[in-house]
Amino acid sequence: MDLNIKLRFHLFNFFNESTYLKSALIPMLAIELVLLTLYFSINLYISTRNQDMLLREVENNLLTITTIEAKSIDNQLGEVARFTRLLQHAQETFFAHPEVCRLPNGPPRLERDPNGAYYKAEDNGGASLYYAATTTIGESEQRKAFCSEDLDPLFKSTVDANPIVTQAYLNTRDAMVRVYPFMHNAAERFGTTWDVNELAFYYEADAAHNPERRPVWTSAYLDPAGQGWVISSIAPVYRGDVLEGVTGLDVTIERFIRHILDLNLSWQAMPFMVDRDGTILAMPPGIEQIFGLRELLEHDYAGPLGTTPSKPDAYNILKSENPSFRTGMLEFFRSGQSLSELRIDETRYVLIQQPIPQTGWRLMVLVNEQRILAPIEALRDLSNHIGYAAIGVMVVFYLGFLLLLLVSVQRLSNHIVSPIHALSAATSDLGQRLHSQPLQPAGILEVDQLSHNFNEMAVELDKRTSQLVEAKLAKQVQEHEARTLARMANTDLLTEVYNRRKIEAILSEELASLSDPDDSFGLILCDIDHFKLVNDQHGHLAGDQVLIEMTRLLRAQLRKGDSLGRWGGEEFLIVCPQINRDGIEQTAEKLRLGIAGHGFPIVGTMTASFGVTLARPGESRTELVARVDAALYAAKAAGRNRVHSDI
Ligand code: GH3
Ligand code: MG
Ligand code: MG
Repeated sequence: MDLNIKLRFHLFNFFNESTYLKSALIPMLAIELVLLTLYFSINLYISTRNQDMLLREVENNLLTITTIEAKSIDNQLGEVARFTRLLQHAQETFFAHPEVCRLPNGPPRLERDPNGAYYKAEDNGGASLYYAATTTIGESEQRKAFCSEDLDPLFKSTVDANPIVTQAYLNTRDAMVRVYPFMHNAAERFGTTWDVNELAFYYEADAAHNPERRPVWTSAYLDPAGQGWVISSIAPVYRGDVLEGVTGLDVTIERFIRHILDLNLSWQAMPFMVDRDGTILAMPPGIEQIFGLRELLEHDYAGPLGTTPSKPDAYNILKSENPSFRTGMLEFFRSGQSLSELRIDETRYVLIQQPIPQTGWRLMVLVNEQRILAPIEALRDLSNHIGYAAIGVMVVFYLGFLLLLLVSVQRLSNHIVSPIHALSAATSDLGQRLHSQPLQPAGILEVDQLSHNFNEMAVELDKRTSQLVEAKLAKQVQEHEARTLARMANTDLLTEVYNRRKIEAILSEELASLSDPDDSFGLILCDIDHFKLVNDQHGHLAGDQVLIEMTRLLRAQLRKGDSLGRWGGEEFLIVCPQINRDGIEQTAEKLRLGIAGHGFPIVGTMTASFGVTLARPGESRTELVARVDAALYAAKAAGRNRVHSDI
């Protein structure tokens, strides 16, 4: 892995590995996570608090409205009850004083219908009059029918004065009905027989059920006279202890409840009215839908008016087929509390009830909690969406940030790696060659400082290397000079063989090391014959050339270990190590023949004489040289161009 990859690897590792995660990313993410958790928690908390507050607010609001409305209904019904009492008094007065017969609307036209019923055939502005066919119309009945006309103005004013009252009536124990407003065809409508005792409300008015003889309210019933769902405020009419009949005022439930049903309550709260037994008296379509009921609005007017049908059990909230609903309603109904929560088919409702003391009814309001809380839930959803959007933005931001960071790191690593790589290359080259090109600045302070140091180091190294080379060269020159001097000291300048001093030194060394006579060294002293003549005849320079040529010839004939030196003038001494008598004499002879057979430039043939000897262990140099010199002298004396051996 080269430097570039390594550094980049480490830089990337720093950002990729746990160091970076631990030091930067995890704390940042943790903080964001805490903030988001806080955000959602606060959101949930505020939303829950708001929901509670709003629920309480709605409940209070509805309680206030229903209290007012219930009171208003109670007041209206109370007024009707007071009118009933008024009628009761008027009728008791009528029964107490049968002699009074004022006929305020003139004499009525009373006829007998073909079905046998006795009735008022013409509207004279007063009430209808009907006697069942079962009753024998005698004088007293006829008079009662006639004189009870006296009650009509009170009937009329009562109905007129109370907008919720639809009918005022008197039903007597002998099956006489006086009912206002006037009803055409009363004989046909009531039919042949009509027994007042069969009427529930008559039963409720008797002494056993109403000993106090006060006005009471009936249950709701479908009006036989076609007024729809009605209730009656009824009061018994006594003559002494005889219950002569029942007087009553019919109130159409629709009339006084309609405006409540039509109330456009906030949060789509739905009011409905139930009687003391839990039967729904009036309800808006919303309640019908929730309870799965359909309000009974169809009336069979064709049927006889002898019965007062009540609503079926399905309309009783306390007899619902849904057990949880029934139980909830029963508990709430019996508790008498004004507020409760109710669950119908997984939907939660707030339920409010307000009693209407007059009738024992309850004005109830049902409101879907979801409708109340919808705005707050919408707000919470919006807040949550904002939160999710924030998470999304955060994720995108961090991904982008991380990407940017990685790109930056890559750029940075490139930026750092290139100069370091150059530096590395420069340092690796430093061993092979001197640094010639200075490193360029990279724009990174530390790297530039390093490059600068390196450049300075390279310059310093250059300087020192130059100094070293110069010193080395100087030493070489010095050594060369020393060697030259040494060579010059040992060499004869003209012939370039050893000089006298050197050959003497070799001779001394050989002598010093000589111990075995069988391992001796030989000595040859050579002298050119009649050399003086050469100088004389050809000049000194020609003599020098002969000397040079002579040494060349001698050297060519010698062995590698032999030493040749100029002994003086035209004399040469040759030291031949490890040689015997024959060897040294043959060498000298060979040398002599070589010279004698050679043709020298300018001078032609030359000869030389040779003295030969072997060194003897223990003798001095002087003794040795003297012996060889003597041998040479002998060779000269013998006629020259010869070898004389003295061994
Ligand atoms: P021989 O040895 O045969 O008896 O006769 P020679 O002529 O060779 O003997 P001698 O020793 O009298 O002469 C030597 C001469 O060598 C004398 C001198 O001028 C000459 N000589 C010595 N050194 C040099 C030199 O370096 N160059 C030249 N050209 N001549 C030299
Ligand atoms: Mg000589
Ligand atoms: Mg000579």
